[in-house]
Amino acid sequence: MKAHDGMYIGGEWRAAAGTDAIEVVDPANEQIIAHVPAGTAEDVDAAVRAARAALPGWAATPPAGRAARVAALRDVLVARKGEIAATVTAELGAPLPFSQAVHAGVPILVAGSYAELAASYAFEEKVGNSTVYAEPVGVVGAITPWNYPLHQIVAKVAPALAAGCTIVLKPAEDTPLTAQLFAEAVHEAGIPAGVFNLVTGLGPVAGQALAEHDGVDLVSFTGSTAVGKQIGATAGAAVKRVALELGGKSANVILPSADLAKAVGVGVANVMGNSGQTCSAWTRMLVHSSQYDEAVALAAEAAAKYGDRIGPLVNAKQHARVRGYIERGVAEGARLVAGGPEAPREQGYFVSPTVFADVTPEMTVAQEEIFGPVVSLIRYEDEDDALRIANGTVYGLAGAVWAGDDAEAVAFARRMDTGQVDINGGRFNPLAPFGGYKQSGVGRELGSHGLAEYLQTKSLQF
Ligand code: NAP
Ligand code: MG
Repeated sequence: MKAHDGMYIGGEWRAAAGTDAIEVVDPANEQIIAHVPAGTAEDVDAAVRAARAALPGWAATPPAGRAARVAALRDVLVARKGEIAATVTAELGAPLPFSQAVHAGVPILVAGSYAELAASYAFEEKVGNSTVYAEPVGVVGAITPWNYPLHQIVAKVAPALAAGCTIVLKPAEDTPLTAQLFAEAVHEAGIPAGVFNLVTGLGPVAGQALAEHDGVDLVSFTGSTAVGKQIGATAGAAVKRVALELGGKSANVILPSADLAKAVGVGVANVMGNSGQTCSAWTRMLVHSSQYDEAVALAAEAAAKYGDRIGPLVNAKQHARVRGYIERGVAEGARLVAGGPEAPREQGYFVSPTVFADVTPEMTVAQEEIFGPVVSLIRYEDEDDALRIANGTVYGLAGAVWAGDDAEAVAFARRMDTGQVDINGGRFNPLAPFGGYKQSGVGRELGSHGLAEYLQTKSLQF
């Protein structure tokens, strides 16, 4: 697609208030592929005003009418699927088949799920002598990261639209073209002017202005825990609703009764997909000491097979950061059995699929979110030990448990301090609530729980 040189505000592409621009880089070859405007507080203010002006009309649109527009949005995403995949590949670097299946495919599922939910959700219920109405929270400030550029946008915008909220989006500076394409799709879907607005720009400038704006009723943020804490504090001071989807360091717990080869193979693939840039990735693999050496050999083999099929990291900074973590792992005594800190290609921000053995729970690579294709194998002695290790980080976003039967895996999963657990390789469910325990966040996305984030209740007593 061709980049827009303005902001999508009030249903049209408007010139930015300032003249600064952001360079969009293809991380596979380090070439500049486009420029987009870097928004300022002035652009954010114009967008919030447009969203506020559109709120009464959209909030009063009956749920069936909102559902029809979300369904139309889904249809445009389907029609432009190829373009979406190509755009994500160009600015994020994901291999094209992954962009087609996941980066374009999942947002279509999620948008479709909210078209259905908008039509079927109980926005009104009787409780004794009361009628309780679920009303839109108001104007939403959405701030999204680059790792799943379209999914992160749709996981906020689709439920916000279904709820009757209006939105200002500040997408990640690394992936603004996908956001512009999404704004085009919103326009094509006939969503009324001002209901959705886009301001591209830098986090500490446009993002911060949006989080601090008085005209925003709910800030929905996905990204790093460090920035999330800041946004939570700002929102708290203003008594504003806030939803935070933050980092993770999820555990993949392989119990002795599990199919070890399958659990290790799926576990490695889970981390390598999207080059390890997945907040819910199972970056710690916990294996019983009796099976540890076999698991290490299987994981090294699985990572080596991945080889060239992995995409680059998003930018030079993440490239340096992830390689720094790998060096830190070696320095702290972990044993490299696949990959390593050396860049495998001269051009592009590539990192080899990396596997660490002999990782102990307190090592940096076992505690901090690396956000790269790095998996750490940690040994446990018994189930209580495994649970202590699994729960022994500040995060609690996701995880996996493998066992000989589902009941055994479920019993362990129920003791994990985490928001989502895949049982014996369970499939992604776009209706299941997604979000973190502990410092992985506040609030839930997807399905009816994700819709509820954008609603507030009003009770009338009779
Ligand atoms: P980030 O800095 O937290 O960025 C997330 C979003 O917040 C981006 O749109 C960013 O803008 C914006 N932002 C940055 N500073 C802000 C501020 N002071 N006020 C308001 N908004 C602000 O995360 P990142 O730099 O993309 O990635 C760094 C780390 O975050 C990763 O290594 C990973 O640990 C974590 N992460 C987690 C997730 C997740 O889904 N949980 C996703 C991506 C990253 P810019 O794009 O201009 O920075
Ligand atoms: Mg950043």
